[in-house]
Amino acid sequence: MSFARPRVFAGLQHRLVLAPRSSVTRSQLLAYRLLSTSSNRHAQHVQKPELTSDLTNRTPHRHGVSTPQYDPQGNEIDPYKGGPSAIDKAVHIFFFTEIIRGMWIVLENFFRPPYTIMYPFEKGPLSPRFRGEHALRRYPSGEERCIACKLCEAICPAQAITIESEARVDGSRKTTRYDIDMTKCIYCGFCQEACPVDAIVETQNQEFSTETREELLYNKEKLLANGDRAEAEIAANLYSEHVYR
Ligand code: SF4
Ligand code: SF4
Repeated sequence: MSFARPRVFAGLQHRLVLAPRSSVTRSQLLAYRLLSTSSNRHAQHVQKPELTSDLTNRTPHRHGVSTPQYDPQGNEIDPYKGGPSAIDKAVHIFFFTEIIRGMWIVLENFFRPPYTIMYPFEKGPLSPRFRGEHALRRYPSGEERCIACKLCEAICPAQAITIESEARVDGSRKTTRYDIDMTKCIYCGFCQEACPVDAIVETQNQEFSTETREELLYNKEKLLANGDRAEAEIAANLYSEHVYR
């Protein structure tokens, strides 16, 4: 290989420079002999069988060559068997069938109603189980549903809920503080699932972005107001899935 010579000469350069002037010819001869006998000069790109098989096993699709597959009888499986024949391919190419099919799909979609919607003026459907903004519910009498059992606080994986409670006159309990840090919430719905009286729920409202972080620290008043506003929707959604609960 012609490009190997400069590299070998570069390797021998220090010998040639340090050698006495009278021995330059001898060194050149030595260099030529080294070149002519060097295994690198006559190296061929032949890999050892075991190395080749190892590489093939590790990278079965190396350079686009796939490993042959064999059936249980030991016969090689033809991956192209059952595919289109050369005539089939030629017919498709000659008559532009794929282009015509593609244009037909374009034509079909041209007359279809668009898939996109003009959000926020148009809104897509939401599942009754959609988990959005939180709310605290009341009974129709106006009494708070929450009995301050703190199951929601205990189960919340993000530790976003903080509850403080006190006893009522009749001995039952009620919350004096119910905070949710909505910046921590991961909308897992565990609080809703854990609540024995369906007091804390996640509404379908997903449009409650704020300009400040503080606005996402919800207190009890905010959560009760959310519940009062969306009670009809919450009740309908809970009823629609009551068979699964
Ligand atoms: S939805 Fe999940 S993370 Fe958010 S408050 Fe409820 S339990 Fe915590
Ligand atoms: S919201 Fe439900 S789970 Fe949480 S403290 Fe109140 S009653 Fe218990």
